[in-house]
Amino acid sequence: MLVEVVPTYDAMSDRALEIVATQLREKPDSVIGFATGSTPAGLYSRLVDEHRGGRLDFAQVTTFNLDEYVGLPPDHAQSYHHFMWSHLFAHINVDPSRVHIPGGTADGIDETCRRFEEAIEQAGGIDLQVLGIGANGHLAFNEPGSSLGSRTRPKPLTESTIRDNARLFDDPEEVPRHAITMGIGTIMDARQLLLLASGEGKANAMHATLEGPITAMVPATIVQLHPHAHVIVDDAAASNLEYKHHHGIMEPYGRRLV
Ligand code: PGA
Repeated sequence: MLVEVVPTYDAMSDRALEIVATQLREKPDSVIGFATGSTPAGLYSRLVDEHRGGRLDFAQVTTFNLDEYVGLPPDHAQSYHHFMWSHLFAHINVDPSRVHIPGGTADGIDETCRRFEEAIEQAGGIDLQVLGIGANGHLAFNEPGSSLGSRTRPKPLTESTIRDNARLFDDPEEVPRHAITMGIGTIMDARQLLLLASGEGKANAMHATLEGPITAMVPATIVQLHPHAHVIVDDAAASNLEYKHHHGIMEPYGRRLV
């Protein structure tokens, strides 16, 4: 696990861009796993800028998103489909037929999950999975108590996640109660993980994730077992870390992902 602490959200996003861009330049037909939320939004605007500047090409890229609410149509302003298209996909030259976001309707959901897992396998697996973290330590919508070996499936959201996400809805009652999410086992199959965290609200979750015991009650702790997990946190999200040796950790080694 490589942990880098950087001063700000912008520095975290810059560093994340370097890692994703390196992956895409080294393997133009990469399979990238994307996440939604305020955390990766800075990375996505940077990817769009790189593309517009002619420095990044997505023509051969395949994408898989972590999760989606159940019950929101794709064009709903708070759906993760809408988020991904408005923040990233509409502005880059990705082939829409290579974009995979789990379907968000309750009908046939088990079949949807099965097909999603199958599509990942057919694409040759995920090369690099971008991840955020919930204040409660969730990874995608794998809430505390989720099986650490789980695959893509529907999950109920916890009250704390519903509360956290209510800020984005006009009416808090509108927040869906269920999501479809890649499982923790699915995420752990990715060849590299890139976990991003910013802000004081994530400080407890990052302390537990990086320095606590591995437990289903903090699903993100599973990254400790991944052979290529790269974690980038800003100062605020790192403020509860006991060990302080992460600052500037990459400087002697250059800029390559281990
Ligand atoms: P955020 O969400 O990036 O909006 O903080 C992350 C998450 O809940 O996984």
